[in-house]
Amino acid sequence: MSPKRYPFLDLGISTAQYAMELKEAAARVIDSGRYIGGTENEAFEGALAANTGSLYAVGTSNGLDALRLIFRALLELGRLQPGDGVIVPANTYIASVLAVTDAGLRPIFVEPSEVTLNLDTSLIARHASEAKAILTVHLYGRPCFDEVLLEAAVKHGLIIIEDNAQAIGADASVAGINGTTRTGSLGLAAAFSFYPTKNIGALGDAGAVTTSDRELADTIRALTNYGSDRRYHNIYRGFNCRLDPIQAAFLNIKLQNIDAETRHRRALAATYDQHITNPLVIKPLLQSPDKCVWHQYVLRTDHRDAFRTYLLEQGVETDIHYATPPHLQPCYSEYAPLPLPITERIANTVVSLPAGPGTSAADAAEISDIINGFEL
Ligand SMILES: *Cc1c(COP(=O)(O)O)cnc(C)c1O
Repeated sequence: MSPKRYPFLDLGISTAQYAMELKEAAARVIDSGRYIGGTENEAFEGALAANTGSLYAVGTSNGLDALRLIFRALLELGRLQPGDGVIVPANTYIASVLAVTDAGLRPIFVEPSEVTLNLDTSLIARHASEAKAILTVHLYGRPCFDEVLLEAAVKHGLIIIEDNAQAIGADASVAGINGTTRTGSLGLAAAFSFYPTKNIGALGDAGAVTTSDRELADTIRALTNYGSDRRYHNIYRGFNCRLDPIQAAFLNIKLQNIDAETRHRRALAATYDQHITNPLVIKPLLQSPDKCVWHQYVLRTDHRDAFRTYLLEQGVETDIHYATPPHLQPCYSEYAPLPLPITERIANTVVSLPAGPGTSAADAAEISDIINGFEL
């Protein structure tokens, strides 16, 4: 008998539970005759702002553009200058860094904590004097925000920007500059991605920026729309980075279900944490109460190739997020000599388990048993 298969992520299955509503939403947009902006966008932006505790949300074409727009707007407003240093985690998805360099800003790579895999906030202070901003990334859905980060930012006047692409619905353990704990409202502005595999996924590319700064929100909205503040009047050399109304319509449906999606991911993480006992793997930190939204459930092991081969033979698909850190990508060869041993060790040892909407708690328990059977 061939073993049961445990797909890493099956987007078809996770979309199927919304299929009726998504088709109705698509039909609504088709019949509306309005294909740029409009009520679907307004509804989504309102719902996202409310969910994050921000005053404003601006839909964008994708998550990378959301980040690019934040930096570009800060340059337009004179709050950042070309060449300014931006503290970024060395252990992140490359899009975080691409946004910094695209804006002509200088990434200052900071090593992660071995416990959280997020930027080690105790290292911020030693880089703060050469930085004007910090881009905190809530990697795998775990908030990267604490008193140490906040104090360093306040003391050195650093602008806090969040890359919230992986952490919609998460909460930090301390309140940010707006007095809220929800990721997406902790700093001056936050970027969201609704890439299909993210916790809330569009059926294509989509993203958003949230902020409670009116001037910044207006600037970003203008930049998404050729830099125009009103029709045929261009105050910035902008882009076309708008959110499509059909994606906004889909996202309006998905966003309503975010709490259930997060509960499901937390239940899977708890199941893995409870059942996995194999000393050859290190489990991710599980705190109580659980503030992480588990975009990925990421183990570490020194025997990754053998582990993945074994799991695949047992029908369990895994993935790696991310095998090559940004500073070792060919496009960033000038940063390759940087001493970032913790980042590199993490890249060589991480492995992501199935943890999405198509994986059940029973699956997670079965996968755990399979993992416990791994030996050298
Ligand atoms: C997905 C992602 C992005 C980019 O979002 P896109 O919508 O794919 O452009 C940025 N940062 C992080 C951490 C991501 O995971």
